[in-house]
Amino acid sequence: MTQMEGKAALVTGAAAGIGRASALALARAGAALCASDIDGEGAQATARDIIDAGGRAISVPCDVTKADDVSAMVAAAVDAFGRLDAAVNNAGIAGSFEHRLHEADDAMFEQVLAVNLRGVWHCLKAELNVMLPQGQGAIVNIASVAGLIGAPKAAAYTASKHAVVGITKSAALDYAKRGIRINAVCPAYTDTAMAQRAIDGNPLMAQIMARAIPMGRLGQPAEIAAAVVWLCSDASSFVTGHSLVLDGGLAAT
Ligand code: NAD
Repeated sequence: MTQMEGKAALVTGAAAGIGRASALALARAGAALCASDIDGEGAQATARDIIDAGGRAISVPCDVTKADDVSAMVAAAVDAFGRLDAAVNNAGIAGSFEHRLHEADDAMFEQVLAVNLRGVWHCLKAELNVMLPQGQGAIVNIASVAGLIGAPKAAAYTASKHAVVGITKSAALDYAKRGIRINAVCPAYTDTAMAQRAIDGNPLMAQIMARAIPMGRLGQPAEIAAAVVWLCSDASSFVTGHSLVLDGGLAAT
């Protein structure tokens, strides 16, 4: 796998789950990697695993809700590698899936929007400021199948992910002639700590998730990461503004 040879990439939320799998897969494909996360130790562990496997990596603690943190993360990647070819805006939270909208907590809504939407906003700005002078770059926002269809008791999360799909389309149009491609991926239930927390909160949730997916199982982080690598690489050179659904058939039902 050399699709990303000679390229530099960053991943937010790289300590765990889909972000960690994407960081490892991009590094295996040849990219030098900036692994960032609000969990600085977790990001460090991901970077260490890449280096132990023979790759190049740094780690940066970064809370994507803070514009200064995000600017510092992008600056650290450019300091280390001299450029930024690909960025995966993955950091996200679920909020609560326990209440209908009228009963849902306002603070939870604010926090979900702050991480899932404003975080992507901050990241796009900082990444574009590096990629525009380069005249080249690929950005992947991690949305969700909940960015395309509704989900009960998940209005805040669903609103944030629909917004990520929208921002992806508009940003793609803004930079289509500037050499920068911006896409999203829309996974359904994927086997990570986020999904596990939902299962822990409701023992029936594992069955509900598996039944909802025509393939009858959760996605694996590596299956999402494979699509992320493709969208970051020149193999997808004519793809921009796209939201790639990775859902075992869920959205087809
Ligand atoms: P996860 O909880 O396993 O990992 C999320 C990572 O993001 C963690 O390492 C966490 O520390 C980090 N993070 C949280 N808040 C942050 C912040 N403010 N700044 C920086 N980092 C922060 O979750 P996951 O399942 O791997 O989810 C990754 C992305 O995929 C999210 O955007 C999520 O919405 C999306 N997604 C997940 C699923 C799923 O079923 N797991 C499905 C569709 C989409």
